[in-house]
This record gives sequence, C-alpha cells and structure tokens, in this order.
Amino acid sequence: MGEVAVIGAGVAGIQAALDLAQHGVRVHLIEREPSIGGHMAQLDKTFPTNDCSMCILSPKMAEVARHKNIVLHTLTEVVRIGGEVGNFTVTIRRSPRNVDESLCNGCGDCTRICPVEVYNRFDAGIGVRKAIYKPQPQAIPDIVVKDREHCIECGLCYDVCGPGAVMKEEKERLEDLRVVSVIIATGYTLFDACRKAQYRYLLLPDVITSLELERMMNASGPTGGEIRRLSNGKIPSHVIFVQCVGSRDVTVERPYCSCVCCMFSIKNAILLKEKHPEMEVTICYMDIRAYGKGYEEFYERAKGMGIRFIRGLPGGVDADDDGMTMQVENTETGEVYILRPELVVLAVGMDPSPDIDRIASELGIALEETGFVRTREESLWAVETIRPGIYVAGTASSPRDIPDSVTLGSAAAMRAFTDVLRAKAQQNG
Ligand SMILES: Cc1cc2nc3c(=O)[nH]c(=O)nc-3n(C[C@H](O)[C@H](O)[C@H](O)COP(=O)(O)OP(=O)(O)OC[C@H]3O[C@@H](n4cnc5c(N)ncnc54)[C@H](O)[C@@H]3O)c2cc1C
Ligand code: SF4
Ligand code: SF4
Ligand code: SF4
Repeated sequence: MGEVAVIGAGVAGIQAALDLAQHGVRVHLIEREPSIGGHMAQLDKTFPTNDCSMCILSPKMAEVARHKNIVLHTLTEVVRIGGEVGNFTVTIRRSPRNVDESLCNGCGDCTRICPVEVYNRFDAGIGVRKAIYKPQPQAIPDIVVKDREHCIECGLCYDVCGPGAVMKEEKERLEDLRVVSVIIATGYTLFDACRKAQYRYLLLPDVITSLELERMMNASGPTGGEIRRLSNGKIPSHVIFVQCVGSRDVTVERPYCSCVCCMFSIKNAILLKEKHPEMEVTICYMDIRAYGKGYEEFYERAKGMGIRFIRGLPGGVDADDDGMTMQVENTETGEVYILRPELVVLAVGMDPSPDIDRIASELGIALEETGFVRTREESLWAVETIRPGIYVAGTASSPRDIPDSVTLGSAAAMRAFTDVLRAKAQQNG
C-alpha cells in the first residue's frame, strides 16, 4: 500500500498519523523539534473539563512510538517536494541530534552531570535546561539531544554514558520519501507580546504570557506548579488577565480572533481561584468567545467563583516603587478603574507557523492574508488545499482548540486514505 507524509507532530498531526496507521497505511511523521507533542505538551489542563493535558496526549504519543506503521522523523524538516497526488517525492533534512538514537536509553545521567544551563524554550523561558537534555519529561522518542551551540565539550557526558551514545558531532542527512499524499499539520506560533509595547512584556518581570503561566501551573514545570511572581518569588495577591493581545488588532496586522484565548484565560483563572481562593482574579476583555460545547457553562462557573470580568482593555501597564498599575474603562458602565495587579498575564494570540511561507511555496499551495493555509473551500472544516493530494489539519489552517484540531487530523487522514486506495486500485489495473 502507498505511504503518506504528515508534516508536524502536534496533536493534529499525531491524530492523522495514528488514524492512517490503524488503517494499515505506512506514515512518515515529520517533526522539526526533538520530541513530538507540539503545544499541547506544554499545557497544564485543558478546558472545559480541566483534564490534565499530558494525560490525554501522552498515550497517543506512546502509541506513535510503538506503531509499526509509523516512521518517526524528529529534528527533521521538508526541504523539497515534487510530483503529484499518488506520486510525491518529499525530500527531508534531518538535523544532528549528536546522540546515537540506537544506543541512548534515555537514562538522563548525561543531563544530570552536564554543567551548562541555558534558556529552556519548552518552559517558555521560565526554566532552564542543560546543553544535553531531554526536551520534556515524557518526550517521544524518549532520548536526549546534545545542543552543540551551548556545549563547552567538557567531556563529562561522554564519560558517564554507559552505552557510549553521546557523539561529538553528527552530520545532517537528506532523504527522499515517496508518498501518495501529504498532510500539513505545522500548527501555530504565539504572537510576540513585545510588539504591544504598552504592556511592557520583558521589561517588567511580573508581566508574563499565558503560555508562561501554563508552564508555571504545571506540576512538572519549572516552579513545580507554584504560581510565583518572578520579581520576588511571592504568590501574587491579584492576577489580571489581558485579552486579545495580538488578536483583533489591526495595528499589529492581526485582524482575526484567535478563538481559544478567552477560554484558556477563563480556565487558568478558575485553576488559580481553586488553588488560592483568597486570590483576586480579574479578566479584562473585549468580548468573551465561548462557542463550544460546555464553554458557556464554564464561563458562568468562573463568574460564580468570584472571578471579576471587566469589559474593556487597559491602555497599558505602569510601574513605580509601589508596584504596577493599570487604568481600564468598563465600556458597559463607563466607570474607570485603577487596578493594582501583582501579576499580569497577556493572552497572546495565535500566529501562523513561522516557516509556513516557505513550506507553502515549496508545496505550491496558497495562504490566506492572515498567513494561515488556504483551503479549497471556505469552510472552517475543510482539509483540502488548492493542490490535489495535499491536505491541512489543525491550527495550520486557522486558530482552533484541541478537539477541533483532532477532528481535522482525522478528516485529513481519511482524505489521504482515499488517495492511497485510489493509487492502489490504479496500480492493480
Ligand atoms: C496558552 C494556551 C493554552 C491553551 N489551552 C487550551 C486548552 O485548554 N484546550 C484546548 O482545546 N486548546 C488549548 N489551546 C490551544 C491548543 O494549543 C491548540 O488547539 C493545539 O495545540 C493545536 O494543535 P496543532 O497540532 O494544530 O498545532 P501545534 O501544537 O502547534 O503542533 C504543530 C507541530 O508542528 C511542528 N512543526 C511546525 N513547523 C514544522 C515544520 N516546518 N516541519 C516539521 N514540523 C513542524 C511543531 O514543532 C509542532 O510540534 C491553548 C493554547 C495556548 C497558547
Ligand atoms: S546519552 Fe547516554 S547517559 Fe545520556 S540519556 Fe542517553 S544513554 Fe543515558
Ligand atoms: S560535553 Fe557538552 S553536553 Fe556534555 S556535559 Fe560537557 S557541556 Fe554538557
Ligand atoms: S478568543 Fe477572546 S481573547 Fe482571543 S482573540 Fe478572540 S475575543 Fe480576543
């Protein structure tokens, strides 16, 4: 039977790969990071049930690792694609891991002994990692990667590694895959909060993004699940969420709604209030978008818990010796408040994946003005791009939540499966 390439192994790409593999199709799952999982692996809980994110994702990731029909290509990107539906040649480039994948058993001895600590992107910058590290505790594949940029070649990891898996330098490798169809599931990236200078992100330590808060709230995150002010290590007495940062905002060329940020702020506000009932929690918003099953009830629950909702966005964050202040007008009543938050959480919007332009021109598909992948039909549920045999799933085509990303992963898989059956029928004459 023909093979399929899935580009991007967040929850949408994982779902697409698993569905195809379960139908007997061999799948190449291509992920540029050292582990699969995407953004969902960084989250603490998921709305509206507040289930633990990794408890849902991790079994799927493990199934990917186990499935005989899935070939996993991590640290890998697509560099070229040629051909047409039924017969694509996808050229992939694998970046060096500098660790022998066939020897490493993921024991972590090298990480513990490595003396170099650097910024940890997985923890959204709040935590640190070593120069040789496992990208996350439940990484798949469950092995380490050595970052040559920060390694000082002290030699300690070579000495401690029993199986001798650490390599000084590995070469990048090119490989051609022959596939019937391609699914793009390259997801999203977050809006750069520094572009809204009035909120003083990275200038004031107690102004953070929603993803940083997710990492802080996560028991396996850098603070062990404790919410602390980065300025003084204390639990904040008043947390303010600022909505629509980099969404519905033409001044930063982001006219669209990012769909999930109302819900993830409500979720995190509820979680904060559950853990610290005495904490004052405020959400400053333009509109509340609670469109999914059980979402409106979730919003009502938040209000019932004493979380304060103010319709109006603050002009910015000011700070003096007494702390931070924010002025906001309640547009429903005309009242103006001066708020004194101890922690400000910016609900940053979703941007298209950074190299989607390059992928789109390589694949010969079109993008929307927003930069997300254009589908053949103007529907939120479409998965066909303008090029036959190339499909799109999850947030690569527009901002959406996890359930919708999973649904589209399955939909794209079924389209690709039809191509595989058609190619097989043609082969059999
Ligand atoms: C703070 C925050 C909280 C959230 N909370 C919730 C919640 O509680 N409930 C909910 O339903 N949703 C929530 N979401 C939304 C959720 O994160 C997304 O709906 C979901 O993760 C989308 O999955 P995806 O697979 O489409 O994209 P991603 O998770 O972005 O995965 C894309 C994958 O593709 C890889 N990739 C990108 N480019 C390439 C390339 N060129 N080559 C190879 N690989 C590539 C990436 O490395 C990544 O692994 C939240 C989002 C944020 C920001
Ligand atoms: S490289 Fe060696 S020491 Fe490090 S995790 Fe792998 S097997 Fe263990
Ligand atoms: S050789 Fe590099 S990766 Fe290994 S322990 Fe030393 S600094 Fe860390
Ligand atoms: S989901 Fe809510 S916070 Fe996010 S852009 Fe839309 S209205 Fe703004």
